[in-house]
Amino acid sequence: MPTTHCLPDKVAMAYAAGTLPEALSIVVASHLSMCDESRASVEGFDAVGGALLNSIEPVRLESDDNLLISTLALIRGGPIREQPAPKESESLLPIPLQEYVGTDIAAVPWKSVGLGVEQVVVKTCGPATVRLLKVPAGVAVPEHGHEGLEMTLVLQGALIDHPSTLQRGDISIVDQHCTHLPIADISSNCICLTATEGALRFKSLSSKLAQVFRRI
Ligand code: ZN
Repeated sequence: MPTTHCLPDKVAMAYAAGTLPEALSIVVASHLSMCDESRASVEGFDAVGGALLNSIEPVRLESDDNLLISTLALIRGGPIREQPAPKESESLLPIPLQEYVGTDIAAVPWKSVGLGVEQVVVKTCGPATVRLLKVPAGVAVPEHGHEGLEMTLVLQGALIDHPSTLQRGDISIVDQHCTHLPIADISSNCICLTATEGALRFKSLSSKLAQVFRRI
């Protein structure tokens, strides 16, 4: 069953520890910029991590100057994770995502993949991929399973992911044990930010829609 609306503790902890691939981190950071409850959860895990660091006995490095220099270089060169802005962006695009695709959703380079479905792949490093996906109102992503985590953040419209309906700012997180059939609500086109580890495994490849979504 998909996790919806807010971050589960396991994902909040992984984000706070900086262990999520960049593609998944973008989705989480974007969700955090839109959800007070999830942001409080991550800040709680950040505080626990800080307390643990403070409890560790310091180790003197003076006997090896090179070790000190290389450690500082590693810290300076490590990944920098911006804290999500506490307020939601006036743009449809969340602030953490704007660093990758700009502020204007109409200006991003949408590419058609067929039957009205469009996507923009966001350039990231690491094993997972993240994309903006535009699904026409009433269109379903055919029933499929997953090879790893899949995170979906709704930015416009609504996504029916039985038994839940995701609205703007809600996040759905499923794993390799979950099979589902998300449908864009008929009220409007659905734009979402979705990150996946590995490929989707469609139950049936005979439908044209399945062939469309296999291409993304
Ligand atoms: Zn899925």
